[in-house]
Amino acid sequence: MQGQIGVAPMHQVSVAVQTPAHSLLSGPLSYRSAQELPPGSLVRVPLGSRELLGVVWDAPTPEHPPAHDPDKLRDVAAVLGGVAPLSAHWRRLVAFAAGYYQRSLGEVALAALPPQLRELSDGQMQRRLRRKAVAPDGPLPPAEPPLALSAEQQAVLAQLHAGSGTFVLYGSTGSGKTEVYLQCVQTLLQQDPQAQVIVMVPEINLTPQLQSRFEARFAPVHGPASVVAMHSGMTPPQRLRSWLAAHSGQARVVLGTRMAVFASVPQLRLIVVDEEHDPSYKQQEGARYSARDLAVYRGQQEGVRVILGSATPSLETWHHSRPAAEGGRYQRLHMPSRIGEQAQLPLVRRVDMNHQPRRAVFAPPLLEAIRERVARGEQSLVFLNRRGYAPVLQCTACDWKSDCPHCSAYRVFHKIDRSLRCHHCGYTEPVPRACPECGNLDILPVGRGTEQLQEQLAGLLGNLQRPDGTPVRVGRIDADSTRQQGSLQTQLAQVHAGEVDVLVGTQMVAKGHDFRRITLVAAVNPDGALYSSDFRAPERLFSLLMQAAGRAGRDAGIRTRSEMWVQTFHPAHPLFEALKRHDYPAFAAQQLAERRAAGLPPFSFQALLRAEARTQEVAQAFLTAAAAAATDALADLPGFALVTVYPAVPMGMQRVANVERAQMLLESPSRPALQTFLAHWHAVLHATRQTPAGRGLLRWALDVDPLAI
Ligand code: ADP
Ligand code: ZN
Ligand code: ZN
Repeated sequence: MQGQIGVAPMHQVSVAVQTPAHSLLSGPLSYRSAQELPPGSLVRVPLGSRELLGVVWDAPTPEHPPAHDPDKLRDVAAVLGGVAPLSAHWRRLVAFAAGYYQRSLGEVALAALPPQLRELSDGQMQRRLRRKAVAPDGPLPPAEPPLALSAEQQAVLAQLHAGSGTFVLYGSTGSGKTEVYLQCVQTLLQQDPQAQVIVMVPEINLTPQLQSRFEARFAPVHGPASVVAMHSGMTPPQRLRSWLAAHSGQARVVLGTRMAVFASVPQLRLIVVDEEHDPSYKQQEGARYSARDLAVYRGQQEGVRVILGSATPSLETWHHSRPAAEGGRYQRLHMPSRIGEQAQLPLVRRVDMNHQPRRAVFAPPLLEAIRERVARGEQSLVFLNRRGYAPVLQCTACDWKSDCPHCSAYRVFHKIDRSLRCHHCGYTEPVPRACPECGNLDILPVGRGTEQLQEQLAGLLGNLQRPDGTPVRVGRIDADSTRQQGSLQTQLAQVHAGEVDVLVGTQMVAKGHDFRRITLVAAVNPDGALYSSDFRAPERLFSLLMQAAGRAGRDAGIRTRSEMWVQTFHPAHPLFEALKRHDYPAFAAQQLAERRAAGLPPFSFQALLRAEARTQEVAQAFLTAAAAAATDALADLPGFALVTVYPAVPMGMQRVANVERAQMLLESPSRPALQTFLAHWHAVLHATRQTPAGRGLLRWALDVDPLAI
């Protein structure tokens, strides 16, 4: 208490900083501070020879003792005084995510903050905070009025307002889910002048559309800065500005991709996760978190509603929203009808490819249906999940194929610049003039990608004319055609303007975009997913096809019923039977029955340990040693017997950029058992790395609730 005369008493504070990956310093570090710093304060602290941004964490407890010897404590270098401390809720979310996904607290905390915060001094920060929000030119337009709700929308909204907890908004594409979000948000913002909400979408490309809808509603009422975006396509200053607006309470609506789940939103009242089934809610590197799952945790922890919206909910979410009497925890709300009189769901037609001309890419009846659309001035969408021209080039004389020398994959032939490109490591070369093995000049593309499909379709439709007499136009949208910034928006605008009659594309076009004049959607070759080794492949295919079908027939002015064509060699497959009836519940029931029988998620919980090394043997040796060490060290843990550790195997993509990859699956019917195992295994893994079994290992990582195994 009594410091020496003239010297202020020193306080000891715990600070979360980003320590080097996989150092064992995974908890907060202790520092000295002349002033008392409440938890959540942003500070700059020395670590080694560097000075880092840190977050003052809660006081050490007996379970989490201070990480430094009190005699050698270093001083906090600076306090970012202009920024209010991060809330206890935010800190709890970060601590939960770090524990659940097995990463260090500092890593998760710092990754959840805008990157520019690390670089600014307190003075720079203060200046930034003093900057006034830019006033818009002229008066704001009047707020766009809310739409008159359909009976289904009204019923759902009433249930949302009456209830609490986590909701699943199971609504067909075009059923008006967005309007429900908008009006739910509107009510919350009106009820409480401080209320804030988070709305998440899977793709950056979908944020501008949604942002303008939210701005039109709310900016005129709640101010020009009341709606902010948060996604990785923004510049560091933009991200900082949005983050500060949310943190200070000025922003009432935070719209963003998965990272928005970590936004500091002190007066949170609602989280919306739109298209909750989308795999991009799962972060695939660093802390491999699921933003959807964290949203549910955050909602529960803060006592606010969470809405998970989808026309094809993930099977996990669907299972959790079964009736409460059967153990369901989420409340399911249903909107089966599309908005508008003409808005029937499209007619699904299966084309049995066993009865079509051999090697036909387009079945003649499908081609005819596309021709009819073009002649009527309507648009078609042709969908193939493989970009490039051909997945592989092959020599007709010897066995040569266009392997990537660095990966266990073929390089894809891109005709447009006559290149062979590896889609995994990026290795690109011009196409050789002759076979590199035998000199044969005859090397041919095998298989088909979107680039070739576009070429073939243009050839097949050849002399066809549009109603105005101009020749048919076949466009393409995929990762290759949209590499340049802004080009996706331009190409989408062309489709909207009717400049394209037939659009060829990958799954990129199936998501969220509103193509009003499309009356035919065709999946050219979807069979691969039916018999895939990935147990989630059918689920993804079903939702993709439902979503693609949902692109069709949105224009109430078009009177013909839109159609979805599926070319398949397995027309009687239950997946297509359910698709034909737009019967997601039947599909889900069938899949869940299979998963239950096989003990797969959501009836079990999984984690993957991955290892990378120059050779497959080294990678696998580490995994095997880690499993053996677990048996020695963790056998007494509660629930140990409930965790199954499978043998180490090469990953599906075994070699990428000359790195060999292996993985080991852990599975348990009990989530707590798996979590306890992982929490204790972590130290064992660090130790194993130091043994001979860890020699030559490049890196290892844990993936909890992996999406692809
Ligand atoms: P979803 O997200 O469920 O696929 P959207 O929210 O995009 O559907 O709605 C589909 C279309 O219907 C949009 O153009 C939207 O503006 C319109 N819409 C939604 N609700 C209404 C309503 N109550 N009255 C009129 N149009 C509506
Ligand atoms: Zn050859
Ligand atoms: Zn490669």
